[in-house]
Amino acid sequence: MNDDAAARTEQVRLAVYAHFAATGAAPSPSDLAARTDLPLGRVRPALEALHAHRDLVLDAADRDRILMAHPFASVPLGFSVMGARTLWWGGCAWDSFAIPQLLHGERDVLVATRCPACDAPHAWVVGRDAPPPGEQVAHFLTPVHRIWDDVVHACANQRLFCSGGCVEAWLGATGRQRGYVMDLGTLWRLARGWYAGRTEPGYSRRDPSSAAAYFAEVGLHGPFWGLAD
Ligand SMILES: [Zn+2]
Ligand SMILES: [Zn+2]
Repeated sequence: MNDDAAARTEQVRLAVYAHFAATGAAPSPSDLAARTDLPLGRVRPALEALHAHRDLVLDAADRDRILMAHPFASVPLGFSVMGARTLWWGGCAWDSFAIPQLLHGERDVLVATRCPACDAPHAWVVGRDAPPPGEQVAHFLTPVHRIWDDVVHACANQRLFCSGGCVEAWLGATGRQRGYVMDLGTLWRLARGWYAGRTEPGYSRRDPSSAAAYFAEVGLHGPFWGLAD
């Protein structure tokens, strides 16, 4: 990619985040053209470049449709995130807890979901200062090095449950292997700094070694997180 193409790609990336943050919805290519003053013929290749670089996820069947620009999503994956004036689909448990960290216009947000095992409703007010209280646990099915094999599936299976008992019941009912279980405080610390800088110019995604260092710092250990135990 030459410098001009790289600059346009970054402009489109920032416009995607600005649109999601402001509206809760994914921008169309025309929305992005309007936000960046680029012609559609420049916006589409930039979206493809961002998809190839895992900065966002395009729909396989409709390349004009953005499914996710983490932590934002345009498809329901089990979570809603409600601000004072805006409603977002939280991607997964991790993404839903990360959204308030990126929205400095919101003091906190209401994250709501249902337990995948027993359908009990759960909601937390999530802000930037401290984890929300609660005895619920997060279960992540897919080890981090496999997330991008099918990122929508991985996000759809990073959920919050009533308890460890509900995780076990869900694993039994769905025939899945146990992934990783953490408490709400650990989930909040994981989400807190993970996407730092993502809505600002010049962001680059963490490489595996800085990701591993971040996981260890927030108390996540073992091969699930790409770390030797
Ligand atoms: Zn439950
Ligand atoms: Zn996610």
